[in-house]
Amino acid sequence: MTETETTDSSALDMRLLRRAIELSASAAAKGNMAFGALLADPEGNILLEAENTTFTERNPLNHAESNLINKAVAILSPEQIATATLYTSCEPCAMCSGAMYWGGVNRTVYGMSEHDLLAITGVNDHCPTMRGVGCRNILQSGQRHIEVSGPHLVEEACAVQLDYFADRLPQSS
Ligand SMILES: [Zn+2]
Repeated sequence: MTETETTDSSALDMRLLRRAIELSASAAAKGNMAFGALLADPEGNILLEAENTTFTERNPLNHAESNLINKAVAILSPEQIATATLYTSCEPCAMCSGAMYWGGVNRTVYGMSEHDLLAITGVNDHCPTMRGVGCRNILQSGQRHIEVSGPHLVEEACAVQLDYFADRLPQSS
């Protein structure tokens, strides 16, 4: 196989990641922050989907990934979670990286990076993005290996954020 060939799994990854980005737009359309995530089994079947609900549920902890993992541990088996991949429109933050670790997720694929998000939001009370500690740095401190793939489809993921923040960024004077 040459380097330019795409494996089935990566084509599958991109299809599922696109769905997570669709969910990010859906979250924004409902009045929440523009983040989406899903869990899929090794064959690519979607097990669960979740969106950010920080505003509609008035809980700043309700990121797409934390919502997803809370749902997953309630209704899926540990084996299902352990073999699933978590797809998310944006790199998991420190809280969600911890939730993935403690929730038993072993693989994640993300769209835009936390640095990409910070570049869009800047210093912003509405979305006070952390300064890119990086999910790999957090997950590598754990006691088991968690595979991380990303960033991917950055332009598509950022486009949703740029649309969301178009009228929410501090005005430059
Ligand atoms: Zn998060």
